[in-house]
Amino acid sequence: MAEATITWISGPVLRARCTGGFHLSDAILVGGGDLLGEVIRVSHEGIVAQVYEDTTGLRPGDRVIGMGGPLSIRLRPGLPGRIFDGLLRPLADMPGHTLQSGVKATAPERLAFEPTVKQGDRVGAGQVIGVAAMAHFEEKVLCPPDVSGEVVSVVDAGEYADDETLCELRATSGETVSLTAASDWPIRRPRPVTRRLPHAEPLVTGQRIIDMLFPVARGGSAMLPGGFGTGKTVLQENLAKWCDADVIVYVGCGERGNEMAEVLDEFPRLDDPRSGRPLLDRTVIIANTSNMPVAAREASIYTGITVAEYFRDQGLHVALMADSTTRWAEALREISGRLGELPAEQGYPAYLNSRLAEFYERAARVETLGAGQGSVTIIGAVSPPAGDFSEPVTSQTKRFVRCFWALDRDRARARFFPAIHPLTSYSEDADALTRWWQTQGNADWTRHRREILTLLEERARLERMARIIGKDALPPKQQLTLLCANLVNEGLLRQSAFSTVDRYCSPQRQTALLRTVLHFIERARSVLDQGVALDDIASMAVLRRLQRASEDIPEDHIDRFRSVMHSLDDEFDALLKRAAHAN
Ligand code: ADP
Repeated sequence: MAEATITWISGPVLRARCTGGFHLSDAILVGGGDLLGEVIRVSHEGIVAQVYEDTTGLRPGDRVIGMGGPLSIRLRPGLPGRIFDGLLRPLADMPGHTLQSGVKATAPERLAFEPTVKQGDRVGAGQVIGVAAMAHFEEKVLCPPDVSGEVVSVVDAGEYADDETLCELRATSGETVSLTAASDWPIRRPRPVTRRLPHAEPLVTGQRIIDMLFPVARGGSAMLPGGFGTGKTVLQENLAKWCDADVIVYVGCGERGNEMAEVLDEFPRLDDPRSGRPLLDRTVIIANTSNMPVAAREASIYTGITVAEYFRDQGLHVALMADSTTRWAEALREISGRLGELPAEQGYPAYLNSRLAEFYERAARVETLGAGQGSVTIIGAVSPPAGDFSEPVTSQTKRFVRCFWALDRDRARARFFPAIHPLTSYSEDADALTRWWQTQGNADWTRHRREILTLLEERARLERMARIIGKDALPPKQQLTLLCANLVNEGLLRQSAFSTVDRYCSPQRQTALLRTVLHFIERARSVLDQGVALDDIASMAVLRRLQRASEDIPEDHIDRFRSVMHSLDDEFDALLKRAAHAN
């Protein structure tokens, strides 16, 4: 067993002298209290390590013991519905639900196991060996990704502890391997897959501005930068509730204790619109606050993505929300600062970008080793100080994500939600999703999307001009563009998270609304060319109906858009007739 002696300690980091035996990323136990830590640097003199627990009382001379393997978490059935710390140690099991580090050793979970393999079967790496019916969720029990062989014995259906042998395999090497429902995996190592698949389907969020204009693919990644009060938390919660993922992994890195406490208080009370049960039943929460050791916060996003991959490998679609990655990067900065490393921009270490890359690159849609297809989509919130998007965490994250949902302070101040700015946001996944929208009955999705974006750009240009020469000096055609852009903003993009009718908008309702709005715009342009006055268009009854349609027409009455379309045509026809008479 590798041993070392502490020579220096500062908060969560220490140096220790040893004569070898330690490797990078090895888990360690520190001092008499066996505090958990991880080796972050190895040299010929010794090691540098970070400690995941409060180091008060540790001093030079105390011992460090290597655990002989990389820092790992225990993946097991029964994670949904629970709250953990940055190293997947349950928090809610702790008395009083206090926000401190999680308990060290957790009792084995009991599960109702039903095998899906029998004696003599060949079991490949990552293949399903049975099903575990848990209190909240049915899970698959997998053969670990690094094991395969022939089934020598398997238990009957029944109740077992997650550390009991469920199945024995004779591996190709001839040795017998015992499989249990729980298995360990190193948090910094991506779990293997058969292959990564191209992006082909969206993670439907039910938020129109995202699904229509800046969609994220299943297996893609998106960042959500926004200053305080711009709606990051509400949007993340709404996405967690409505996006079409099977499992949600929520990694909360709050600055102040109460920031995270609010989420922990609120999340368990959210209902799952799919099942009517608590949303928590299919959510795994990993919580950090500033009063928890900073190193655990650094580890938490890797813990989160490892948990997400564990469910992905069961053939599920997972959405991982990290709120906020800025707090995670600050943990990295603090550790680096204590080690006296040369700081790069704004004190962040030079390796901030490689760490961000390691995290975001684990978003993927994949063919799993043994359970079909699964995906992990990452949505990371960023809280740039003073809303400055040029700061390092925002600008570096931008390099590794495909969708950028910029929350805008002015929109939020005007209570325009979601406050995603349509001109500064983007999605690199949009083109790949055209075919999917065709299968949903919208063959024109790409063209519609471009029309809307072009209209909004045109509006920005005209508004700049109007500020100089006055709106009334604009020609009627341009004034009509402003009117149409306003309809797009109010009728399509505005969507309240608190409206019972509109907090979720299905792809079918989005398509119906989008078509109706675009039909209005097309006809308005055409009748203006044919001599109808702008004021007459602006005062059409159907325009007001359209502005409110998303609130007035619920999911189960999508056919009502047809009647809006008819009255729209009737009203335009009447305007044309009147104009022809007048001439
Ligand atoms: P942040 O996490 O960025 O500090 P919040 O998510 O707490 O901001 O949002 C601040 C407030 O803005 C909320 O309390 C709510 O009133 C309003 N808000 C944010 N997003 C929405 C939304 N999608 N729909 C309606 N109101 C919203």
